[in-house]
Amino acid sequence: DISNRVHSRHPLPKGMAFTLQERQILGLQGLLPPKIETQDIQALRFKRNLEKMTDPYIYLMGIQERNERLFYRVLMEDIERLMPIVYTPTVGLACTRYGHIFRRPKGLFVSILDRGHIRSILDNWPETNVKAVVVTDGERILGLGDLGVYGMGIPVGKLCLYTACAGIRPESCLPVCIDVGTDNEMLLKDPFYMGLYQKRDRSQLYDDLIDEFMEAVVEKYGQDTLIQFEDFGNHNAFRFLRKYREKYCTFNDDIQGTASVALAGLLAAQRVIGKPITEHKVLFLGAGEAALGIANLIVMAMMEAGVSQAEARKKIWMFDKYGLLMQVSLRPGDNQEVFAHPSPGDVQSFLDAVNTIRPTAIIGVAGAGPLFTRDVLAAMGTLNERPIIFALSNPTTKAECTAEDAYSLTQGRCLFASGSPFAPVTLSDGRVLTPGQGNNAYIFPGVALAVILSGVRHISDTIFLQAAKALAEQLTDEEMGQGRLYPPLSNIREVSIRIAVKVVEYVYASGMAFHYPEPLDKDCFVRASVWNTQYDSFLPEIYEWPGTSHLPP
Ligand code: NAP
Ligand code: MN
Repeated sequence: DISNRVHSRHPLPKGMAFTLQERQILGLQGLLPPKIETQDIQALRFKRNLEKMTDPYIYLMGIQERNERLFYRVLMEDIERLMPIVYTPTVGLACTRYGHIFRRPKGLFVSILDRGHIRSILDNWPETNVKAVVVTDGERILGLGDLGVYGMGIPVGKLCLYTACAGIRPESCLPVCIDVGTDNEMLLKDPFYMGLYQKRDRSQLYDDLIDEFMEAVVEKYGQDTLIQFEDFGNHNAFRFLRKYREKYCTFNDDIQGTASVALAGLLAAQRVIGKPITEHKVLFLGAGEAALGIANLIVMAMMEAGVSQAEARKKIWMFDKYGLLMQVSLRPGDNQEVFAHPSPGDVQSFLDAVNTIRPTAIIGVAGAGPLFTRDVLAAMGTLNERPIIFALSNPTTKAECTAEDAYSLTQGRCLFASGSPFAPVTLSDGRVLTPGQGNNAYIFPGVALAVILSGVRHISDTIFLQAAKALAEQLTDEEMGQGRLYPPLSNIREVSIRIAVKVVEYVYASGMAFHYPEPLDKDCFVRASVWNTQYDSFLPEIYEWPGTSHLPP
C-alpha cells in the first residue's frame, strides 16, 4: 500500500525476532538472517549502538520507524537518559534542523491550502482508532520561536511520552502540524525548509482552518477524541482554549500542563519547608501562556486553602518585556489584568522587582535566556531562608539560570526546578543536590490517559489541580532530602499511572466521566489498559476439529 511506503506508521514489527513458523507462514524465510533473536538481544544491540552515536536523535527516530516495540522498550528502560533526546532539549535542536536531518514523515501535515479537504487528509492516515491528537502550528516551539513545519518534532516527541510514560498505544496517537506559513525569515530562505514559503496567514482563513480541523477530527475519530494544543503563539493559544474548551475534549499543555507541574513543585516545596501555599508571594519573569496558566492555578489552590480570589491574586506579580505588570500599563483583554497591581515603587529591572516585592518564589517562563542573574539569585538568598527558584524556560539555552548558579548563590538553600534537565550539583561543602525537572511531561501523559479511559468530554482546570496534588504527594521523604521537588524521572511511568488513577477517581466522583459502567477498582482499570512492548504473534490460530463429522462416511 503506497501510503504505508511513504509514511512510517507501519514499521516492520519485530525484525529478527520473527519465529521460524512465522517466517515460513508469512513468506519471510530467507529474507532474514537465520538466527531467531530475542527482544533482549535486540535491546542490548540498540543500547550499545546508541552510546556510540554522534546524532542519537536520528538513530532513535530510525528505530521508532523500524521496530516500534523495541523503541519503546528501550525508551522506557532508560527514560532518564533518553527523554532528553526525544524531548527537551535535543528535540529543540532537531526541530531547528528538521529539514536537514529529515528521513521520513512521522505525523500528519495540514496546510492552509488544504482548506475544505481536511477530512480527506485524515482519511489518508493509516490508523482508524485514534484517541489522542497533539497539534501545533509551529509558532512558538519551546523558547525557540517560530519554526513553522519544522515544529513537527514537538507533537511527535510529546506523543512518544504518551506511550512511554502512560502506556497509551502508539497507534492511537496522532501528531499533527498545521502549516499556515512562517514569519521566520531564515526558514523562508532555507532551501531545505519543508513547509509553505509564505508569511503566516493571520486572517479569518486561519481560524476557519482550525475550526475545520477540529470538526474533521471528531467526525472521524469521535467526539471524545483528546486534542492537545502545543506550542501555539500566545494570542492564539488563549483564544483557541477559550473557544474550544467547552465544545471539544481539549487542553493547552503550555498553559494548563505547565500550570499543573509548577503548582506541584510549589506543593512539594510546601512539604519541604512547611510554608503553606497561601503564605507565598510569587514573582514571574514572563507573563505569557505559561505564567498566566501557572498563576491562575496557584490562585485556585490558594482559594481551596481558604483565601479569597482577590487576596490570592495580590500575592502574584509578573514582570515581562516591558517591566513590571502594573495597573497603569495594561492593555485590557490581555488576560493579564488580574495580576496587574498598583505600583509598589520604582522598579526598573527584574532585580529591582525582587528587592521591592520580596517574593518567596521566582518563576522564569520568559523563554529569553539567563535573566536570573547572580544578583537576582543572591537577593533571593538574602530575602528568604529557603527561596524557591524555578527556571522553567526551554530548551536549556533559554533557561533563566543554571542549577549550579541557583544552588551556589544561595549556599544550597534554594529549592530549584528547571524545564530542561540539569545534572546534580556538588556544593563546596560536599553536599549533592538534585535539581527537579519542572516539565509538563510529568503531567500530560497521566492526564491524557485518565481522560481517554474515563470518557471525559471537557477538561476542566480542576483536573490539573488534582494532577498537581497527585504528583506532589508522590515525592518521598528521602527524595525531598536530596533537594528534589519531583520524583526521579526514572520512575515517571509509575508516577504518570498514579496520576491517571487519581484523576480517574476524581472525574468519576465529580460526574465528569462518561465511560460506563464505572470501574470499581480504578487502579486495576488504569493498569489493565497499559500497553506493553512484548511482540505479538503473527501466527494464525491453528487447531484440530474433534471427531470425524467433517469427513465423508
Ligand atoms: P509566551 O506566551 O510567548 O510568553 C513569553 C512571555 O515572556 C511573554 O510575556 C513575554 O513578554 C515575556 N518575555 C519575553 N522576553 C522577555 C524578556 N526579555 N524579559 C521579560 N519577559 C520577557 O510563551 P510561553 O508559552 O509562556 O513560554 C515561555 C517559555 O516557557 C518557553 O521557553 C517555553 O519553553 C517555556 N515553557 C516551559 C514549560 C515546562 O514544562 N517547563 C512549559 C511551557 C513553556 P511579551 O509578551 O511582552 O513579549
Ligand atoms: Mn510546549
